[in-house]
Amino acid sequence: MDDLSADLLIIGAGPTGLYAAYYAGFRGLRVAVVDSLPELGGQITAMYPEKAILDVAGFPSVKGRDLVEGLVAQAATADPAYLLDRSATTLEHGEDAVTVTLDDGTRVVAGAVLITAGIGKFSPRPLPAGEGWLGRGMEFFVPSFAPYAGKDVVIVGGGDSAFDWAQHLEPVARTVTLVHRRDAFRAHERTVTAVRASSVELITRAQVTALRGNGHLTEVEVTVDGEDARVLPAQAVVAALGFIADLGPLQTWGLTTAKRHVVVDSAMRTNLPRVFAAGDITEYPGKVRLIAVGFGEAATAVNNAAVAIDPTAHVFPGHSSEA
Ligand SMILES: Cc1cc2nc3c(=O)[nH]c(=O)nc-3n(C[C@H](O)[C@H](O)[C@H](O)COP(=O)(O)OP(=O)(O)OC[C@H]3O[C@@H](n4cnc5c(N)ncnc54)[C@H](O)[C@@H]3O)c2cc1C
Repeated sequence: MDDLSADLLIIGAGPTGLYAAYYAGFRGLRVAVVDSLPELGGQITAMYPEKAILDVAGFPSVKGRDLVEGLVAQAATADPAYLLDRSATTLEHGEDAVTVTLDDGTRVVAGAVLITAGIGKFSPRPLPAGEGWLGRGMEFFVPSFAPYAGKDVVIVGGGDSAFDWAQHLEPVARTVTLVHRRDAFRAHERTVTAVRASSVELITRAQVTALRGNGHLTEVEVTVDGEDARVLPAQAVVAALGFIADLGPLQTWGLTTAKRHVVVDSAMRTNLPRVFAAGDITEYPGKVRLIAVGFGEAATAVNNAAVAIDPTAHVFPGHSSEA
């Protein structure tokens, strides 16, 4: 694989990494962005593209998909080299550069590296009864609602994703049943109240114990604690049991971490020279993990990285409105 050179290599193309790419362009830096996923947008694209987000500055309400589209358009002004479907695996320091190797063998030589890897490489927590059913009626994500039209859908889980999808699929599907192993839910109270008031059937203290069908899913078996199993018709099961986050290879780079997050100072510097971090992955006293916070950290990180790359540069970039 070819070597690639950039002033700034961004690891992670979630909202923080995309905004950082724009900012790198604003600072006149050549930028490359790597992501393990095949699509841009990080957690938003993978987990809630259809959800309305209410707390991004300047947008009273913005659909996840639309926010990512705007970030990608803004980042395009920096003409980033996107390296998708590839993971950053090793990091080595040279004289005035850092070299990051990707899992396909590509080596990226950069003046500085910005880690915006969020919760790391994330994979869905498996539904034990669903083994072998992925793509044959069982899914972990609901990127669009149309495929669920007229179907009997069983959603497993009690968190935000499970309740968001129950709420959005209810008007589309024939029936929606939500199965959760406890009585209490982790989802936002307002969504739980809305789902309770809808036609969604909630089955609690229960587990999906079997998926059945001839080639494609036709029914699921649900077992409520201490009761006999019950069979529900189902052409679709959404396993929304959360994610297993894994910092993976980043943990071997010698970064100072705290509870699977990378410790940074107020300039978003890690303990390694020329290596910065921003977004969900960072840790410092008072850290809040939100998109809005990631945007601010991205601007701080890129402006400080610009000085690490060129010590004659200034941290303050000037105002974009004056450029
Ligand atoms: C259901 C749900 C609803 C949410 N709602 C809101 C909300 O309303 N408002 C809000 O502010 N926040 C919300 N959040 C949180 C928000 O999505 C995160 O704060 C935000 O996505 C963090 O952005 P990020 O770019 O830092 O990381 P991420 O979005 O996690 O992106 C990180 C990217 O890095 C990639 N990556 C990781 N490791 C590597 C590697 N080694 N090599 C290459 N790529 C790598 C990952 O594949 C991923 O694409 C919600 C989260 C969820 C799950």
